[in-house]
Amino acid sequence: MSVCAVVPAGGSGTRIGGAVPKQFQSLKGKPILYYTLKTLQDCGIISEIILVVPEKEYQAACADWLGNPEIVKKVVVGGEKRQDSVFNGFREVSPHSEIVLVHDGVRPFLSKKMISESIDAARKFGAAITAIPVNDTIKRVDASGMVSQTIDREGLWRVQTPQAFQYSLLHEAFNKAISEKFYGTDEGTLIEHLGEPVKIVEGSERNIKITRPEDLELSETYISKAFPEL
Ligand code: C5P
Repeated sequence: MSVCAVVPAGGSGTRIGGAVPKQFQSLKGKPILYYTLKTLQDCGIISEIILVVPEKEYQAACADWLGNPEIVKKVVVGGEKRQDSVFNGFREVSPHSEIVLVHDGVRPFLSKKMISESIDAARKFGAAITAIPVNDTIKRVDASGMVSQTIDREGLWRVQTPQAFQYSLLHEAFNKAISEKFYGTDEGTLIEHLGEPVKIVEGSERNIKITRPEDLELSETYISKAFPEL
């Protein structure tokens, strides 16, 4: 049964600096997105990737990424929020797909283990998200910068991608979210909103979302280990 990946890379995030959004910025001579797509292809579990890009980058992205790597079958334009972008990609997924795996374009250090474990867990539980336990002390802070509360970190996890879902469950979750104008910062939240269970799969501290300039610096040290052949 087929697994289709939707890769949201439709953000315009340039907080990191540079003229192009962070997903297209260079890391060891290749765009960050290259590494993400390579791992998704090389894992051998995914049959096709639908890549979501900003409208401005659409023409260039089609030229650069369609069929490169081979399993990138469609490129679509993203939406205002991440969830809109993932939905635009999801609309292109064949309803005959068994599992939909969603993975952020700006997380190039996912592993084959995370991909396979999240897919296996989605087969068993319907929905699975990659996450790591919180090991810092967590405080709530008010608008004036004063601590208002310390939150017990026991049982708290930081959520990453990949996230995997049975097609029909994610379809139902998007329908409900859209009809209620409900937004979450990940698709796992949409499944919770539906009242359905979500299984946790252990991620990694290395599976960073490249967002700020210091993430790029960290990536320089991770890249040789993750892709020694390049
Ligand atoms: O904005 P955030 O850091 O959560 O972005 C996570 C991923 O979602 C990135 O790969 C980004 O390009 C993508 N995204 C998107 N469409 C948006 C906003 C973010 O595809 N409107």
